[in-house]
Amino acid sequence: MSNEHFTLHTQALAANPDLAFFWEATKKEVMLLPHCADCGKTHWYPRLFCPFCFSSKLEWREASGKAKIYAATMLSKAAEPYIVAYVELAEGPLMLTNIVDCKLDDLQIGAPLTLTFSPMSSGHFLPVFRLSDTPAA
Ligand SMILES: [Zn+2]
Repeated sequence: MSNEHFTLHTQALAANPDLAFFWEATKKEVMLLPHCADCGKTHWYPRLFCPFCFSSKLEWREASGKAKIYAATMLSKAAEPYIVAYVELAEGPLMLTNIVDCKLDDLQIGAPLTLTFSPMSSGHFLPVFRLSDTPAA
């Protein structure tokens, strides 16, 4: 399936040259999460300062790739319907993303997800999620 359902938010991120390293990492199937060295919190979306304490002392850590569904909906009026969801990353933040390779009926709040990457025509790879094979604990 093509994956051109780039949110406006993601387009803005992709256009930010200061975050080029974030997108380069996605080509190696790595999603980097900014972790604040001052207050210890991890945030999403990627930006160059901590939204909690405004520190710019960030460590970019590889995401575990584990998350669970917080809320999901199907954009059924799109030419190719797709699922948009808020997922709760294992590291804490909520992330607006897509869930691929499943039907809306397959999704339950709290279901475990695994990170995957969807190629974009821009050459970037979009971090998205799919249902994990393992059942929820
Ligand atoms: Zn902070």
